[in-house]
Amino acid sequence: EAHLQEASQKKKGRAKETMTMKTADHQPLTLVAGGAGFIGSHLCAELLARGHRVLCLDNLQTARPSNLRLLEGHPNFAFIEGDIVNPLPAAVIERTNEIGRIYNLACAASPPQYQADPEHTMLTCVVGTDHLLRLAEASGARFLLTSTSEVYGDPEVHPQREDYRGWVNCTGPRACYDEGKRAAEAMAFDFARMGRAQVRVARIFNTFGPHMHPDDGRVVSNLICQALSGRDVTIYGDGTQTRSFCYVSDMVEGLIALMECDIDGLEPINLGNPEERTVSELLEAIVDLVDRPVTVTHLPLPVDDPRRRRPDISRAKAQLGWTPRTPLHEGLALTCAWFAEEIGATPSEDQP
Ligand code: UDP
Repeated sequence: EAHLQEASQKKKGRAKETMTMKTADHQPLTLVAGGAGFIGSHLCAELLARGHRVLCLDNLQTARPSNLRLLEGHPNFAFIEGDIVNPLPAAVIERTNEIGRIYNLACAASPPQYQADPEHTMLTCVVGTDHLLRLAEASGARFLLTSTSEVYGDPEVHPQREDYRGWVNCTGPRACYDEGKRAAEAMAFDFARMGRAQVRVARIFNTFGPHMHPDDGRVVSNLICQALSGRDVTIYGDGTQTRSFCYVSDMVEGLIALMECDIDGLEPINLGNPEERTVSELLEAIVDLVDRPVTVTHLPLPVDDPRRRRPDISRAKAQLGWTPRTPLHEGLALTCAWFAEEIGATPSEDQP
């Protein structure tokens, strides 16, 4: 951290440094756990743009190093490498009194990634959240947990409202994440009930955009990267299962709105785009954008793969005045363009 600050101070020069320090003194410090990841890196960038000082804590398990490089030059940004499963690093603890906000986005969220080390996933959700809640208690900071639509499991109720309690298989391969997040929610609400911390809980539905890892394994990144590089595209099952895809900038706005809203809610809030699509429809939209013929390989549907998912966002609309604004096609176009550069693929018209 000291090294990063030193580097950015050198870059900015002395006069700027003094000014920055002055403004920064009045800003609360925001801790973003998982700030080098996909949504986390966008959140850090937006918080910095709004004048916050940001401390990013990340174990770099699923982060793209370039996500971090985009943030590191900023004078109000500092990075600390650490895993929330372990006691929090001294560099975080020593700033306890400065911390006014804690966002917890630290957990692998793509099924193949969170299933690769299920014990670590469960501990990240439960032990990691406990460490951050205790920091919130000690600092008086407000705490936001990013939970997930996975708490609804393979839902019998459609669309999913926050009061639906879900249909989760606690012995299946998704349980480390689903049940981990359910336990994390339970703990966050207990801290709130006991008056130990102010909490906010967002249930994030499928989100996509630039800064996803090309090997992340999720459907949007897989299909775009496969189509761009001329490989077979993989559809699991018959492609009739549905998801509702939210563009990342909308998600970040929702998270900040939730953190900053006055209602100290003992209730979770769904954040997601309610426009529901089948996986086949998503593929059609991507093929349209990439403008290149694709060959589809059908692979077996993963165990416990939810048949359909769509958020009811009435609560977010009413309480936060938030609604996603980016249409799927527009978000996909931005994401395709970003991935094309990221993986060095050329658009179809440039092919011989
Ligand atoms: N999926 C697919 N092809 C892929 C990756 C995923 O057909 O290459 C399907 C997956 O089985 C699921 C949906 O797309 O039905 C969304 O999967 P993802 O892993 O993105 O997120 P989930 O919502 O399942 O956590």
